[in-house]
Amino acid sequence: METSTEGAAADCGGDVAPVTAPATDEYPAGAESKAAAVGAGEGAPSAGGTAVRAAIAPASLSPSRASDFMQCPLLYRFRVIDRLPEKPSAAATKGTLVHAVLERLFDAPAAERTAPRAKSLIPGQWDRLRESRPEVVELFADDPEGERLATWLGEAERLVERWFGLEDPTRLEPAERELFVEAELDSGLRLRGIIDRVDVAPTGEVRIVDYKTGKAPRPEYSEGALFQMKFYALVVWRLKNVVPRRLQLVYLGSGDVLTYDPVLADLERVERKLLALWDAIREATETGVWRPRPTKLCGWCDHQAHCPEFGGTPPPYPLPVRAGESGGGPQGRMGPD
Ligand code: SF4
Repeated sequence: METSTEGAAADCGGDVAPVTAPATDEYPAGAESKAAAVGAGEGAPSAGGTAVRAAIAPASLSPSRASDFMQCPLLYRFRVIDRLPEKPSAAATKGTLVHAVLERLFDAPAAERTAPRAKSLIPGQWDRLRESRPEVVELFADDPEGERLATWLGEAERLVERWFGLEDPTRLEPAERELFVEAELDSGLRLRGIIDRVDVAPTGEVRIVDYKTGKAPRPEYSEGALFQMKFYALVVWRLKNVVPRRLQLVYLGSGDVLTYDPVLADLERVERKLLALWDAIREATETGVWRPRPTKLCGWCDHQAHCPEFGGTPPPYPLPVRAGESGGGPQGRMGPD
């Protein structure tokens, strides 16, 4: 496996949870930043970025982008094909900050991984985040007295503190942190992602851990939340020929831990699902037909101004389309070539 220390953040996966990170802890925050890190090779927009990059057809799939397409194909197009910029959100940025703190805490000797130590890392990691992503400063541009920033940092502290009631870092020695993984399926589809933490037991059993700064989903939505974890388990299986023993989601927003012990059939099922999804993405890429799928999650979408469902017009489709495709119209190609 290839390692990476970039992009500390949570990822959001699943059939129901929005990748468009809302400004609330109702949903996993941090999706935006990790998505950006993972999506760098698949054309995802950088939050708040304005640089125009040449459009390219998608070449790989991450949990976030897979969730985008399942949520709304047109959202996927805006993010991956058009690479429209998105505003940073306070919730997602807080997720990035908290993830960075939890990652860096493991630099300390085990006995020193305490809550006060973790909280003391917040100011430095916030400085680092502002340096690496200057656009996040916009979040507090209208806060000259720094009151909102202080409240926001206090919320980050509470999330960090809550973690100590869920896991004991003095008893953990992660094998990997912020691990970038990438694997190619037999079909040629490349899967990629960043795993928050990988623990390996002396017996060789692997546990994949992901932190969420949002609240745990209701039980009926847990399958959607586990989609991302099964995606990672599939990648690990393909890379190492080992089925992870446990998948663990740690919800700092509500103080819950969701675990699932996958079996090979789970990974084969998610592989079939991803292949079907990739076929649909390729078809849309070639035809230029990206259908909007309005849901209540549209309220969190940065792209309503370009969405026909909200009276907007998509930008001209930047890729060539297959000869003979008619496209067009609000359910069609979404704009002239
Ligand atoms: S606003 Fe439009 S593009 Fe965004 S999620 Fe809703 S339907 Fe999709």
